[in-house]
Amino acid sequence: MPTTTIVYVGLGSNLSKPRLQVSNAAKAIANIENSRVCALSSLYLSKPMGPQDQDDYINAVISIETSLSALALLDALQAIENAAGRVRKDNRWGARILDCDILLYGNESIDNARLTVPHYGMKLREFVLLPLAEIATNLYLPDGTSVNTIANEINSNGMVKL
Ligand code: ATP
Ligand code: MG
Ligand code: MG
Repeated sequence: MPTTTIVYVGLGSNLSKPRLQVSNAAKAIANIENSRVCALSSLYLSKPMGPQDQDDYINAVISIETSLSALALLDALQAIENAAGRVRKDNRWGARILDCDILLYGNESIDNARLTVPHYGMKLREFVLLPLAEIATNLYLPDGTSVNTIANEINSNGMVKL
């Protein structure tokens, strides 16, 4: 029995029927090899980060148990983004059809050219912390931070649970 790891992935979309994009992404993630879905949060309607001249986002967090390495999982998630039609542009945080970010890979800290885990922005993003806290009870980051504590403290920025 290979070692498996619990991974949390943040999903976001604000183009081309975002609710459908996020639910299709969850289905595609369920089909990733050597992996199974543990939980999917509710969908949330959130305000865009960065440029404000774009539509609100649909966000969710999904947890999976996988025997893939973190980089192999990133490859699979990027293939799902590409299959959804994501076009990478220069404008950071601009509108996108689908974003799949690895938030946590077990209790590991990873820092290489392709991957930083825990995700560098997760402690400051309500659209990550609130869905994450919904599906993960008593989760701690590798640095010992309680997800429940920071989720309770963050400003929800008008985010709506759907
Ligand atoms: P942000 O990272 O601020 O959420 P973004 O998700 O829009 O912005 P992307 O264009 O999706 O950024 O990703 C840019 C690069 O980030 C990817 O090519 C990937 O190699 C790298 N990356 C680093 N850490 C992660 C991670 N934890 N999850 C996903 N991609 C990551
Ligand atoms: Mg992102
Ligand atoms: Mg991303």
